[in-house]
Amino acid sequence: MELLDRATARTWLATAVAEARAGLAEGGIPIGAALYGADGTPLGRGRNRRVQDDDPSVHAETAAFRAAGRQRSYRGTTMVTTLSPCWYCSGLVRQFGISRVVVGEAVTFHGGHHWLAENGVQIMLLDDAECAAMMRAFIEKNPALWHEDIGL
Ligand SMILES: [Zn+2]
Repeated sequence: MELLDRATARTWLATAVAEARAGLAEGGIPIGAALYGADGTPLGRGRNRRVQDDDPSVHAETAAFRAAGRQRSYRGTTMVTTLSPCWYCSGLVRQFGISRVVVGEAVTFHGGHHWLAENGVQIMLLDDAECAAMMRAFIEKNPALWHEDIGL
């Protein structure tokens, strides 16, 4: 598969960040994601809605995945997320054969992106300061909610 250029990855990350910010404004956990097709078409976007929907299964990645509807194949698709994907979302990436994951940051939470890389998923870690600052501020203000979300 072609390597994704960082400029495009940054543009796509901005969509995920916008979702995360919208979630924060709703009183939710600020994690956003978007799924892009092999040709770069936006397929779906979403955000963590644990608080908003009282539903722990709505993570940013699953929300974006569901918003994309049925796709015949996920070959060549890219999941962009503001935060390293948890095991649940890493499992989703492997289950459906999503080819690539762009990760905003993995400082505040280290999820399954190494495991994905070991299993042939192309990972681009952007180490984005804005994503990390947003999560840090949120975790500091809402430690209990954050621990509930990551299952601690
Ligand atoms: Zn997740």
